[in-house]
Amino acid sequence: MSDCCATNTKPKQPCPCCGQAGAAVNNRTLWHHLKRPWEREIMEAWFCDNPECEAVYFLADQRIFTQADARTPVGIKSNAGNALLCYCFGIDRQTLADSPEVRDFVIRQTRDKQCDCEICNPSGRCCLKHFP
Ligand SMILES: [Zn+2]
Repeated sequence: MSDCCATNTKPKQPCPCCGQAGAAVNNRTLWHHLKRPWEREIMEAWFCDNPECEAVYFLADQRIFTQADARTPVGIKSNAGNALLCYCFGIDRQTLADSPEVRDFVIRQTRDKQCDCEICNPSGRCCLKHFP
């Protein structure tokens, strides 16, 4: 949809928790979302975007990180109205449901490269990907 976010070209891996293929995330992304990043080594990690799965990130050695390990509430893992879907502009599920035109705003900002999904979104990818 956009080239705003650095696309990680590493191959997808199946989540050890649910089996769904997850996209690779950069350490730069991980460091911004995991708790106590200074205690962690450089890791090869993938993001699980299955809303039903408790794993947020998983590693090649099958370890998983859940919401409890993340300092950012992961919006796609929650049905709450205040669950964030766009981290760059602070748009939650309820806001998007009430004001569908917000989507156009995000598309416009993304096109103009005003977003910062690689860092702000725990998936490291474009927020629009997870809009309902
Ligand atoms: Zn999973």
